[in-house]
Amino acid sequence: MIVVMKSGSQQTHVDHVAELIEQLGLKAHVIVGTDRTVVAAIGDERDMEIGAVESAPMVDRVVPILAPYKVASREVKPDPTVVHIGPNNAEVGGEKLAMIAGPCSVEDETKLIEIAHAVKEAGAVGLRGGAFKPRTNPYSFQGLGETGLKYLAKAREQTGLAVVTELMSIEHVDMVAEYADVLQIGTRNMHNFNLLMAAGKTGKPVMLKRGWSATLEEFLLAAEYIIKAGSTDVILCERGIRTHESYVRNTLPLAIVPAVKRESHLPIVIDPSQGTGHAYMVPSMSLASIAAGADGLIIEVHADPEHALTDGAQSITPETFAKLMADAGRVATAMDRSI
Ligand code: PEP
Ligand code: MN
Repeated sequence: MIVVMKSGSQQTHVDHVAELIEQLGLKAHVIVGTDRTVVAAIGDERDMEIGAVESAPMVDRVVPILAPYKVASREVKPDPTVVHIGPNNAEVGGEKLAMIAGPCSVEDETKLIEIAHAVKEAGAVGLRGGAFKPRTNPYSFQGLGETGLKYLAKAREQTGLAVVTELMSIEHVDMVAEYADVLQIGTRNMHNFNLLMAAGKTGKPVMLKRGWSATLEEFLLAAEYIIKAGSTDVILCERGIRTHESYVRNTLPLAIVPAVKRESHLPIVIDPSQGTGHAYMVPSMSLASIAAGADGLIIEVHADPEHALTDGAQSITPETFAKLMADAGRVATAMDRSI
């Protein structure tokens, strides 16, 4: 970190700051400028309460140099992480893009298996579907629970698709881990640190969705919790954030893709379904995500969106998905990737 002193600070103030820095186990290096003096602290400050130095007399501000995350950061691991998912070890974060598709919620066995075959045929490697649904309204459909997980496992058996499904609560961690290939942590739970650690302890791949009002730093620190707990296989997922805009359900900030690539080695996929809230926007935003450098997409697909129990307005049909996959292949080629 760099401690910037106020102009007019005396030698005693600078010495005091240097002493505080040395007390933290860091080395203090004083740089005297024409107007301002700064004290550079040399060493790893990430697990220290460095902000406290700001309350010392005549300190103007404290500027951290290292990102607060360690194991999620590119500084610590320069090579990109490739996560392998499902029975066919599909790659997320490699040259090939990972396309994950399926209904918002698991509704019934026949419909799920039909969708699974359709998206597999179109080139998907993962099947999404919530068995436990985090609904804003307590009277809305809450998901089929373990029955839904069983349907997902059956669909995997028939198609070889990796099952991606949400873990909502610690009490279900063993059950969901038994059926899922990837544990999804939803936007509402990104700050639920106990759940993050419980998911990490399973050692399974975890798809971490960004909290709808979380900063990039908070997002990566949440990933850090999962990695520290035991799963190095974290897939980040941008699913849109809350803004003042109302023509979309969420605003999809694709600039997070280059930002994540710069800051972290973890792969990132985009969810253009929650990210827009409207089926007609999903194809364009999917292509834009690939062009921005995303490692994959997670898309809501339903055979009969008009009658979907959840998120019908943002679900595309299997036909639209197949067309999207063909278009996505061309954009991927332009980006030196494949599908
Ligand atoms: C979902 O994937 O259906 C879902 C509920 O996602 P999010 O947590 O991003 O809202
Ligand atoms: Mn949904």
